[in-house]
This record gives sequence, C-alpha cells and structure tokens, in this order.
Amino acid sequence: MTTTDTRKVVLIGTGMVGMSFAYALVNQGGICNELVLIDVNKEKANGEAMDLNHGLAFAKSNMQIKAGDYKDCRGADIVVIAAGVAQKEGETRLDLLQRNVEVFRSIITPVVKSGFDGIFLVATNPVDIMTRVTFELSRFGAAKVIGTGTTLDTARLRYLLGDYFSVDPKNIHAYVIGEHGDSEFVPLSQVMLATKSVTEILEDKRYPYNIDEMTKIEEQVRTSAYKIIEAKKATYYGIGMAITRIVKAILGDENSVLTVSAKLSGEYGGNDVFIGVPSIIGRNGVKEVLELSLTEEERAKFDKSRQVLKESFEGLKL
Ligand code: NAD
Repeated sequence: MTTTDTRKVVLIGTGMVGMSFAYALVNQGGICNELVLIDVNKEKANGEAMDLNHGLAFAKSNMQIKAGDYKDCRGADIVVIAAGVAQKEGETRLDLLQRNVEVFRSIITPVVKSGFDGIFLVATNPVDIMTRVTFELSRFGAAKVIGTGTTLDTARLRYLLGDYFSVDPKNIHAYVIGEHGDSEFVPLSQVMLATKSVTEILEDKRYPYNIDEMTKIEEQVRTSAYKIIEAKKATYYGIGMAITRIVKAILGDENSVLTVSAKLSGEYGGNDVFIGVPSIIGRNGVKEVLELSLTEEERAKFDKSRQVLKESFEGLKL
C-alpha cells in the first residue's frame, strides 16, 4: 500500500462493466488520482484511455488516466478485475467457469509478480467463486481480496423498499446476503426502517403494508439482472457504480458497511467460502465480517447458499 497521497487504481478488463466503473470514477471525482487501464485487447484499452482523457476537462477533479500493462500494478492501491469471457454455445456453466479460471490465472500471476500489495476487487461473474479463485491464486491475505458480492443487490433492495414504504432508501437498513445469484436472499428479521423493525411494522394493523409484498420485492431483486439482460443484453451501469462505491470506501478509509463478497473465517459457521455478507470496509480491505442475528429459517437459507458456492468451487481445477 502506498503511503503517499497518490491513490492509484488499476482496472483489468475494459469491457462494459470495467468502463462503466471508470466513467463513474471520473465523474464522481476526487476518489483517486491515477487510473491505469489494462485489457488483453490493448487497442481497446488505448482507445478507452483516450476517450476518458478527452472528457477530463469536464470532470470535477483532475486524474492521470492511461492504458498500461501489468508492471503498472506495482504501487497501486487497488486492482479491480472486470475481465471475463462470455459463454459459448453448448458450454456448461462449469466449462465457462473453468475458462474464467484460466483468464484469471493469466491476470493474477503477472499482477502479483509486479510487486502489487494492495487490494484486489473482483466483479467478474460468478463473482463469489472468482473472488475465491483470486484469493487462492494470489495467496494474499483474505482481508485484501474482495468481491462486489451483493452490494448492487442490496442497493436494489433498498431502492424498492424505499419506494414501497415511501421512505428515503438511505433510511432503510436491509441487506441481500449469500451468493450473488439464485440462492441469495433477504433476511427479513434484519430489515429496519430507521431503527424500527419492518417485521413489527408489517404486523401492526394500523399500517397498510403487506408481508407478501416483501416476497415480491425479494424476487424482484433476485431477477433484476435477468430482466435487464433480456431488455439490453447486459448490465453495467449499476455494477460500475457499486464498484466505485467500494473503491471510495477503501481509499477513503471509511469503515463503511457493504455487502461485499468476503471470506468467512468461522462467521455464520462457515470457513473458506467467499460470500456476500455485511462487512466493514476500510483502507486495508475487509476489517470485519458482521455476523447478523439470523432466525433459524434465515440461517438455513444462508447455509444452503454457502453450500452452493462450496460445491461450485470444489468442481474447479486450480
Ligand atoms: P465485456 O465482454 O464487455 O468485457 C470483458 C473484457 O474483458 C473485454 O474487454 C475483454 O477483452 C477482457 N478480457 C478477456 N480476457 C481477458 C484477459 N485474459 N486479460 C485481460 N482482459 C481480458 O463483459 P462485461 O459486460 O464488461 O462483463 C465483465 C464481467 O462482469 C462478466 O463476468 C460479467 O458477468 C460480470 N458482471 C458482474 C456483475 C456483478 O454484479 N458482479 C454485474 C454485471 C456483470
């Protein structure tokens, strides 16, 4: 980690997700002062750097942006990985996963070789598995390997709950936890409107709210990505902003609670698995995984999600 004022971020994978992140980073301004773009397609990384640089005059703060190579990871604070390959026809999910492992091998090895000792932030899907792959290949400490996890899903949840209860989403405290995928869920016992439990509000006959609506909202969150992909082939702005939020929490040493994909070390009865859980994020990565007081039913859902991730990972050749 650098001790100077320079805050340097390297982005690997300048596709839709990577560049949505870079665009948000430039527009929000003041988060970092150096951004390096790396892609297997060097021409694309060059073009993207030129394009962003030309917009800098209209941005809030100045930044140094360039296309680079793995040597540039030395001295960086964060390496964001949004590189990935698309599914081929007839290919199984596991085949795709195995190909992404090879992509990650070609990335993590040179990043580590550069002398990089900052924080890895992974967005490539399936994000919980790819974060664990990054941990295994880099041999970095667990605190320094983070996945985007259910950060975006949690933002979607708060937006929908805010809408339903007609309350600013900032005053809704709620998390989507588990795998960033089909087994993710919302522990309803942990949903708060300000400091009032939503289950209490739902049971109070004076209010017009309905518990069935919670199931619908949870389903809406879980299927959001599918709907967006159906409509426009891919999702990228939301995740780009979620990555920016995590980068800001790290570089600003915020100690903010975000549902990133973090390694369990005994929390929730798990070990080794990387999974979306509320975690305190600061300058050194994951400071602490917060263990929520889940009900028995919620705990069973979490265990199931953890099992899905454990089995997917065990099917891989590393
Ligand atoms: P994309 O195809 O637009 O971009 C992928 C980029 O990776 C391309 O520019 C490609 O050249 C680059 N790349 C491929 N192999 C590489 C290698 N070996 N080294 C360096 N770069 C390499 O895809 P996208 O839409 O940007 O999606 C990227 C990833 O993000 C996918 O895995 C996608 O599923 C994932 N994603 C995650 C979330 C989330 O919530 N975590 C949300 C949306 C998408």
